[in-house]
Amino acid sequence: MKIGIIGGGAAGLVASINLARKGYDVTILEANNKCGKKLAITGNGHCNYWNTDQDLNHYTSTNKEIFSKIYDLNNHKVLDFFTSVGIVPKINNGYYYPFSKDASSFVSSLIRLSLSLNVKIIYETKVEDIKKGECFLVKTNNGEYQFDKVILATGGKSYPKTGSDGSGYDLAKKLGHSIVPTYPALVQIIGQDNYYKDWAGVRSDAIVSLKNGDTVLKVDKGEVQFTDYGLSGICIFNLSSLVKDNKDLTIELNLVPWFQGNKKDLIAYLDKLQEEFPTYSIKEIMEGFLHYKLINLILKLLKIEHCALWKDVPQEKIASLLMTFPFRVKETKSFDDAQVTSGGIPLNEINPCTMESNICPGLYFAGEILDVNGDCGGYNLGFAWMSALNIEVANDKN
Ligand SMILES: Cc1cc2nc3c(=O)[nH]c(=O)nc-3n(C[C@H](O)[C@H](O)[C@H](O)COP(=O)(O)OP(=O)(O)OC[C@H]3O[C@@H](n4cnc5c(N)ncnc54)[C@H](O)[C@@H]3O)c2cc1C
Repeated sequence: MKIGIIGGGAAGLVASINLARKGYDVTILEANNKCGKKLAITGNGHCNYWNTDQDLNHYTSTNKEIFSKIYDLNNHKVLDFFTSVGIVPKINNGYYYPFSKDASSFVSSLIRLSLSLNVKIIYETKVEDIKKGECFLVKTNNGEYQFDKVILATGGKSYPKTGSDGSGYDLAKKLGHSIVPTYPALVQIIGQDNYYKDWAGVRSDAIVSLKNGDTVLKVDKGEVQFTDYGLSGICIFNLSSLVKDNKDLTIELNLVPWFQGNKKDLIAYLDKLQEEFPTYSIKEIMEGFLHYKLINLILKLLKIEHCALWKDVPQEKIASLLMTFPFRVKETKSFDDAQVTSGGIPLNEINPCTMESNICPGLYFAGEILDVNGDCGGYNLGFAWMSALNIEVANDKN
């Protein structure tokens, strides 16, 4: 049986090894002149390929129920697979990297194994159309191919310069699938206000809560990068897949994450500091725990003189900005900057036990093309591996 895998990225390479090991005749059609172009830049070139913290809340999908079926069937297979490939892990706080810490070597290991199992990899071959008849007729810029089964592993739309330009969605649509609307995810967030040049360049730890009105959608914490367009940093990336078209979102920033207590307690704490240092201005008191650019901005927004004493300032308002600074969300940056795509092929259109299409028999999916995306920390590659290892091809042809 001839299997064609469209796309030689993370999911396509692992699917090729998985299927070739089962004895199938596998061909990868890859648009680029090499496989794994995106994989080679993951984790800042170190490739964070898994995480020990597998709380399902690290994954987002419109259909969490079907996602958890795929997860339950496959998460335990991932580390065994990489052991079988000869990848030795280096585990840092639960984050898995190859011991070499070199994403390019990781990619080379997968390609080498794939080729050694007689997988044919055909480069610079972009699939433009797929027709389903007796078999699949695959039209490319480099001739036509026939396969008994086809696996779409074309990735999403993020970082299109690595090859994932969204063309896989069009191929799936032509074969009868629908698409959960796609948005950039794991990406910087642009704000609506005009003071961001005041905080540009600051990096500070914070607790960040994405809110729609009073409803908290997601909370994360870590280092926030304050920029001239808004906010960046891993904890901000982790909120970004929920931004979508919603215009009324706010990110509340707790700029004093080290402080245990509520606003009243914070006011009491600042009272105590002023008692200890009676000549200090509010600016000087805050310099003990906050970057001067953030202090200046808070004082500017509240129209407070730098030399004012704590007893003379609106204490409630300062405590509020320190604990719940409201960042008004405009939109995310585009797919050009996004690490992943939210949305994609709906999971209710595939069989979670085999990854086969319920709409077009013989067609399978793996990786980011599907409506699953994860937090930073190895979860997106995690899903690429899980879905690729889950492919069970129906043996109805020889
Ligand atoms: C900068 C960056 C850093 C990242 N770091 C991490 C990380 O550390 N950990 C983590 O878990 N995730 C990370 N990710 C996300 C992760 O890389 C992706 O989720 C993962 O690569 C998706 O795998 P995939 O195989 O589905 O798609 P891709 O890896 O995008 O592969 C798709 C392949 O299909 C090919 N293709 C597309 N269309 C066609 C067509 N029509 N015909 C032929 N070929 C086609 C493309 O050229 C590409 O090679 C990062 C992403 C980026 C951009």
